[in-house]
Amino acid sequence: MSMVAQNLSAVLHTLPEGVQLVAVSKFHPVEALQQAYEAGQRLFGESRVQELNEKRRHLPADIRWHFIGHLQTNKVRQLIGNVDMIESVDSDRLLRLIDKESAAAGVVTRVLLQVHVAAEETKFGFLPDELSEWFRSGGYTTLKATHICGLMAMASNTDDDERVRADFHAVAGLMARIKAENPDLRGFDILSMGMSHDYPLAIAEGATHVRVGSAIFGERKY
Ligand SMILES: *Cc1c(COP(=O)(O)O)cnc(C)c1O
Repeated sequence: MSMVAQNLSAVLHTLPEGVQLVAVSKFHPVEALQQAYEAGQRLFGESRVQELNEKRRHLPADIRWHFIGHLQTNKVRQLIGNVDMIESVDSDRLLRLIDKESAAAGVVTRVLLQVHVAAEETKFGFLPDELSEWFRSGGYTTLKATHICGLMAMASNTDDDERVRADFHAVAGLMARIKAENPDLRGFDILSMGMSHDYPLAIAEGATHVRVGSAIFGERKY
C-alpha cells in the first residue's frame, strides 16, 4: 500500500460517521492524487485555478473538486462548471460574479461562504457580523444560479487549542444563528472547517467537512 493510501486510511479512521474528507492535494503531483483515488478517495481540494484544471484533465471524471483558495475575479470563468463546490467565497462581489457566470454557462454552482474568525489579518472572508447582516438583508434571495450550501472557515494558526476551539465554536454558532434567522434558507448545512493539525477540534465543534492535506500527502514543497 502506498504511503498516501496508508495516511488516507489513518485519517479516515479518525472521522466519525457523516463527516466528509476533502483531501487537499494542492502542490502535490497527479501521481499522489492517483494513489488517493485508487484508495477510494473521490473528493479533492485545490487552491489554484490553473492547477485544479490541469489535474482535472489527467484524472478520472468521477472526482469531485472543491476549490478552497482565494479566488480572483478574473479566474472565475475558468472554474465554473469544473468544480463540485467553491468553498472560499469571501465577498459579495465574488458571489455575484459566480452567479452571473454560472447563469451564463447554464449551470448551478454550489458554494460556501468563507468566514473570517482567525487572528491573522491575512486570511480572507466575511466578518461574522457582516455575514449575519448580509443574510438578514436577504442578500441570497436574488441569486439565480448559485446555491449557498453553508460556511467555510480557518481557525487561528496557533498551538493554543482553546483559541482554535473558540474560533470553530464561533463559526458553528454563526451558522446556527443564520439558520434560525432565515428559516426559508434551504440546503444550508455544510460546515467546512479543520485542517491537518486541528480537524479533531473542528469536528468536536460541529464540522461536517474537514480539509486535510499534509496529513495525507506529506509536507508541501512550495
Ligand atoms: C492548504 C489548506 C488546507 C489543508 O492544510 P493542511 O495543513 O495541509 O491540512 C485546508 N484548507 C485550506 C483553505 C487550505 O488552503
